[in-house]
This record gives sequence, C-alpha cells and structure tokens, in this order.
Amino acid sequence: MTIIRCLAVLYSYYQFCKLQKIGSKYILGIAGLFTVFSSFIFTTTVLKLLKINIADLKDALFFFLLLIDLSKAAMLAQFALTASNQTEVKRNIARGMSLLGPTITLDTIVETLVLGVGTLSGIQRLETLSYFACLSVLVNYVVFMTFYPACLSLILELSRYGKKNCLLISKAFKEEDHKANPVVHRVKLIMSAGLMLVHAQSRWPFRNEDADDIPHIGAEHLALNKTDEPALHGYIMRWMYLSADHIVILILLLALVVKFIFFENKDDFAEQIKAEFSNCKDIDQSLNDQVKQQFKPEMALFKPNDTFFIENSDGENSDGPETEEKAVQTTKYDFVQENYFQEKEESKPERSLDECLAIYNSDLGAVALTDNEVILLVKHKHIAAYQIEKAVDDHVRGVGIRRKILAREANILKALTDLPYMNYDYGLVMGACCENVIGYMPVPVGYAGPLILNGAELYVPMATTEGCLVASTNRGCRALKPGGVTSRVVADGMTRGPVVRFPSITDASAAMKWMESPENFLLIKDQFDSSSRFARLAKILIKIAGRYLFIRFVAKTGDAMGMNMISKGTEISLKYVQTVFPTMDIVSLSGNFCTDKKPSAVNWIEGRGKSVVCEAVIPAKTVMTVLKTTVQALVDVNYSKNMIGSAVAGSIGGFNAHAANIVTAIFIATGQDPAQNVGSSNCMTLMEPYGPKGEDLYISCTMPSIEIGTIGGGTVLPAQAACLEMLKVKGAHPELPGENASQLARIVCGMVLAGELSLMAALAAGHLVRSHLRHNRSSTLLPQTTSYREKICTNDNLLAPPCRDI
Ligand code: NAP
Repeated sequence: MTIIRCLAVLYSYYQFCKLQKIGSKYILGIAGLFTVFSSFIFTTTVLKLLKINIADLKDALFFFLLLIDLSKAAMLAQFALTASNQTEVKRNIARGMSLLGPTITLDTIVETLVLGVGTLSGIQRLETLSYFACLSVLVNYVVFMTFYPACLSLILELSRYGKKNCLLISKAFKEEDHKANPVVHRVKLIMSAGLMLVHAQSRWPFRNEDADDIPHIGAEHLALNKTDEPALHGYIMRWMYLSADHIVILILLLALVVKFIFFENKDDFAEQIKAEFSNCKDIDQSLNDQVKQQFKPEMALFKPNDTFFIENSDGENSDGPETEEKAVQTTKYDFVQENYFQEKEESKPERSLDECLAIYNSDLGAVALTDNEVILLVKHKHIAAYQIEKAVDDHVRGVGIRRKILAREANILKALTDLPYMNYDYGLVMGACCENVIGYMPVPVGYAGPLILNGAELYVPMATTEGCLVASTNRGCRALKPGGVTSRVVADGMTRGPVVRFPSITDASAAMKWMESPENFLLIKDQFDSSSRFARLAKILIKIAGRYLFIRFVAKTGDAMGMNMISKGTEISLKYVQTVFPTMDIVSLSGNFCTDKKPSAVNWIEGRGKSVVCEAVIPAKTVMTVLKTTVQALVDVNYSKNMIGSAVAGSIGGFNAHAANIVTAIFIATGQDPAQNVGSSNCMTLMEPYGPKGEDLYISCTMPSIEIGTIGGGTVLPAQAACLEMLKVKGAHPELPGENASQLARIVCGMVLAGELSLMAALAAGHLVRSHLRHNRSSTLLPQTTSYREKICTNDNLLAPPCRDI
C-alpha cells in the first residue's frame, strides 16, 4: 500500500506538471480538482448507500489519484480555447466531446473490466479496493461526460466577459492527434470482449447463491454499526496514528511541493510563446528566411483560430499586446495557415453529394460538413459561392473555403499564399464593405506630424506604399510648426444628380420651373428629409439637355460621407415629383451630374462634400532651414507649375502638385471610399511673398470637394476606426452632427498644404529625384553599382516613376 500511495502522489505530481506545461495555471487545475472532488463525493455517497465500510476509503483515495487522467480534461479545454467567441466555444466543446468521447468511453469500459478482475481475486481487501476503483472510474466518466463540459463552457464564458481575469494560454490542438488510433481501438475492443467473458463466467454461479452471500462487499465491511462508537473512535485513532507509511508519504509530498514551488520553471511555455511572438513581430527582411525555415509548415506550432492569453509583467492577467494588435497577421501565421490550407486541399470529400445535401438541409446545416464537402455543395450550386460564410456560420472558415475554391479553379494556390485572411473581423465586412472576400490587404501606415491646425497638435495617419510621401509631408508639417495652419470649412453638401426624361421639351421645362420654385422645393425637401435623421436637403440645381433634366440634389449628411443616405433621399424625392409629373421617366438615379468618382468641372465650381480652405505663413528662416529653398524660388515654381502648367494641360481642379497623394493616403488610413480621391483631390495651391518686405511665404490650399465622413462605409472597420480615433474624430460627433467629418476635412486640407509645401520646396531646390531614389525604390530591386545609378539618372523611362508627382 505504501508503494501504491507513493505512486499515486508521484502520478498526481506528474499530472500537475503536465497541466503546467500546457500553460494552464487556474482553469484546468480547477477543472481537475473539480473532477477529483466530485468523483470522490459521488463515490462516497454511493458507498454510503451501499452501506460499505468507509474505513477503507483512505486507501481508495490513492486509487482515485492513480485513476484520474486530467490530460483529457486539458485537451477538451484546449480545444474549447481555440474558439474566438462563445458560440464557437460551445461548438468546439461539442466537437471535442465527439472526438474524445468514444475513446474515453472505451477506456472506461476497459479500465472497469480490468479493475473488475481484482474483485474476483478472493483477497478481501483487494476486492474491496477494486470495487472502489471501478466505481471511481465510472463516476469520473459520468462527471467528464456531463458536468465538466458544462462547467468548462461556463468558466470560459465568464473569463471572456471579464477579460482582465482571462488567464489561459492555449496551445495548438490538433484534432488529428486526438482521434482514436484504430489499432489500439481494436485491441481495446477485443480485450473488453475477453474480459466480459471472464466476468460473465466468474459471476454466473453467484447469481444462484443466497442473497446474503454477497462476498465482494464482505460481511465485515458492511455498514458501520450506529451504536458502534468505540469502533469509530478506533478508526479515527488509526487515521491519526503516524506510522512509518505516513512518514514516507509525508516526506515525499513535502519534497514534491518544494520542488514544484521552487524548482519548476512554470513560465517556460508562456515565455516560449512570448519569445516566438516577439521574434515574429520584430522580424526584419534579413531574418525572413530564417523564420520561414524555423516555422516551416510541417512544424507548425499554431493553427488558425488559436487564442493566446498572456500574463503581463505585473503578473496581472490580460490579453497580451500580441492579441490586441493582431489585426494584421504575423509572418508565422502566414505560413501556418497556408500549411493548413494545403493539407486540407489534398483530402477528398468523405461523403457523397446526396449525404452532404441531406446534412446541409437538416438542422445540422453546413456547419457539420467538412470543407471539401462544402466545396462539393458549392460546385453543384446548392450553396451560392458568395454565401459560404452564412452557410457555415463562420466568417473565417467561409473565407478559407472560398480561397480553396478559387485556388483550385484558377490554379493560383501559390499566389494566394501571401494574401492574409486570418485574424480579421469579417463580421463587419460582410454585407457592408466587401463581397466574395478572400482576405485582406495589409497596407503600411505611417504618421506625419505634429500638424498644428487651428491651434491643435495632430499626428496624422497615412496609409501608403509610396516611399517619401510620409517623410515629405512630415517635413511640411515641421515647416508649418512655427505659425501653424488655419483651416475653415466654407460649404457642406453631398450631391446626387439623377437624370430624368420627359416626352417633350415643353414638359421638361415645365417640370424644371416647378421644381425651381421655392414653395415646391420645400415640398421636395419634406420628402427628402423624411428619409434620414441626418440628411437635410439644402438645394437643387437643374440643367436641361433637350427633353432630359439633370437634377443635382445637394444635402448635408451629418458625419457620414453620405452617398447612400443621399441616394435614398433622392429616390424618394423623385417618386414625389413623379406624382406631379406622371410622364416623367426616371432614367437613372445617377446621371453623372453628381459627379461621383469622375473628374468634372461641376464639383470644382459648385463644390461637393466639404469645401475647405486653409492657409499658413512660413517665416523666411524656416523656408531656408527646413525647406532648403527660398520664398522667391517657391513662388516662382508654384506659378510656373501649378498655374501655367495646369492651364496648359487643360486641368480641372488640378492646380496643385500632389494633393491626391495626401488625400488618398489619409482616405485609406481612415476608411474613406478611396475612389473618391478623384473629386476630393481637387485643389488649388497658391503661394505669395508675405510680410512688409515680402520675405516670408504665404501659402493657401483651396479644396472645394472633399467627400469625407467619420461614420459608415469603411470607417467602421477596427484599423480604420483606430486611425480616426488618433485624430479624435471617430464616429458621430456627440453634440454637433457633422462636426467630426468637418474636422477630418480640415485635417486633410491642412495635410495637403504640408505636402504641397514640401514637394514644391524639393522641386524648387532640385531635390526631388534624389530623395525619391533614396526613399522610393526598394534597394533589393536595384543592382548596387555606380554605373547603374548613373544610368537611371539619364534614362527618361526609369526616371518617370519617381517623378510622376511633378
Ligand atoms: P451609410 O453607412 O450608408 O449611412 C450612414 C448611416 O449612419 C445612416 O444610417 C445614418 O442614419 C447613420 N448615422 C448615425 N449617426 C449619424 C451622424 N451623426 N451623421 C450621419 N449619419 C449618421 O453611409 P453613407 O455615407 O451614406 O454611405 C457611405 C457608403 O456609400 C460607403 O461605403 C461608400 O463606399 C458608399 N458609396 C455609395 C454610393 C452610392 O451610390 N450609393 C456611391 C459612392 C460610395 P440615417 O439612417 O438616419 O440616415
């Protein structure tokens, strides 16, 4: 018994070390303790019911410790932790149970039967202990199959809500690893059958014996006699008596506790994870190959959806920065996910089309199908390719399946490898920002600033792949620092210009007159304004072309850019006008008189969205020291290039150096509709000598059509919203609807001014080509020889790309 007790203690220690390695400190430990505790309580209760002598329980306790395997509980918890939300937790637990359940059931049967052999030994004590052991195995099984999954789900739900207390690191859970080995499975089945035969044969004769003769429990082990108090006292004394056996176990226990507390390296796993993540975060180009090698697919540590909760240095549990900042995946994820992608690619659908269809149409739905089976249904048009996410009720899985379909159909598996798709909240994208999603495009984001705008200091995010742009704008901000920039929104009105047709010019002109009258305008406005809480019709501008009317609805749209809002209002208004002029035919809700996303004079002249103007005075000294040029040179280049040059080119709204560069970079960073850079980049940059002697520089930018918003469209996506938050203009303004969007428009105009200043200075000083060659060309693409560099400085074609802004 002493040996068994020591073994039990050592085994428990081993179990705890195993849990520690998995990274669990609390939840799995608690779950384990819960299992042991509940098994013990249940067994005790059953024993009491059977009136068995509980004095032998002290030996049974050690059997409990020997029989309970916490690793299964840990596996299930790991699987549950791979979920990213509560619904997934439940689904993963169910899936985990379906994977582990059959193995555990078979193990329980085998264990019970093997232990049951002990009850046939004829040795009284061994028989009793075997009974205890069988019972505990069965109780443990019941607890694991019923209470444990429920408790696990509850604990994870609670820990997710209170993220500060979230304390787990989940390691990869490979489903394949936990599927039963068929050979072992078969051996167990054969063994069980044999043992069952042994039990049946051994027990058969006893059935006919006297009921009093239930030898396995033993007469002397029947219930404690209620009146037998001296015996109870004796038992207690026996329990308390410190025998050599007790001393050995006590020493062993103490030694293990000391080892566990002082000598085990508990943070090994957490440290390992942290180290690997920081490696990946900081990785530079030169380390790339090394990392690829290190995390080559077959050694993949992580699988998609792995969740990591990392303790911070204060020992307080929180989501580590890795989790919070993982909107864009790391190199490591890239390789792992594609390995996963390829692995599954090989396997064939497991069930026939009819079987898959039956499952899909049942309550289980496509969730219960494998990826390949879903692909089979898509191929046979039972699931629409654009609705895969909905069918499988999982956005990331849906996107993954679409990538597989595309990779197979277009044979572009390699191409897709570098397009990331994991760790992205597609819930915000679907039905709002993009369709047929196959991933997302990581674009580098830099910042320029501080820009001093109307007295406030701003650090402005810019998403671009054009080297030089952020650096150049930043220099402009530095030059503007002494005096700052003043910026004003002078008009606000988004537009939609439908085209309608009448039977004749008589009808068309009558309708035009009717709509232009102030009373009728108010009737139309009533209709328009009823379509939204924020869209308010300001005016309508009508142009006639034969029997066609082009009606430009101009409306304020609060903090939204407003194209959807205004389209809705316009449609309602036209329906109303149609009740007055039934012969009016609405040809198109957009008649290009809007004008959206196309170059046009109307936006330049009439304005669209926010019309913004800003100005700054730069002291002569700053022009010299920061911009490395003179006021005179700047004014001269601006006049020649932005005025005469643009006029010669027949430009409309293009009287600037590169407003579109800054507009687009800020648009991408802040979730604007990037195609609206066309109209939004309309800008006239003016420069004059300023001051009593004209030694300083006066610069202004006039941008009449900045189409911008801080609500709706891509502004809802987390990364874009973060950039809006940087500028303190995220979402709707709490008091003044439209103020956040106006402030963002002022910022865009101010940044354009900074960008104009810097690029014009570079041109005036002749620095443009030099800086572009330094910052705008990946050195990995250029042979590093002097002769090559000399060549590109004289080759028009090669010079063209970096000079495209001139
Ligand atoms: P939206 O997201 O369609 O509409 C804005 C929504 O926000 C409205 O439901 C509005 O309420 C609500 N809202 C709440 N607080 C607001 C506030 N303070 N100010 C303004 N609205 C507020 O956004 P949108 O700007 O109209 O449209 C942007 C999208 O249209 C972008 O995705 C863009 O790419 C796309 N787009 C569409 C067209 C087109 O022709 N339809 C053209 C170009 C671009 P209400 O419901 O009360 O109005």
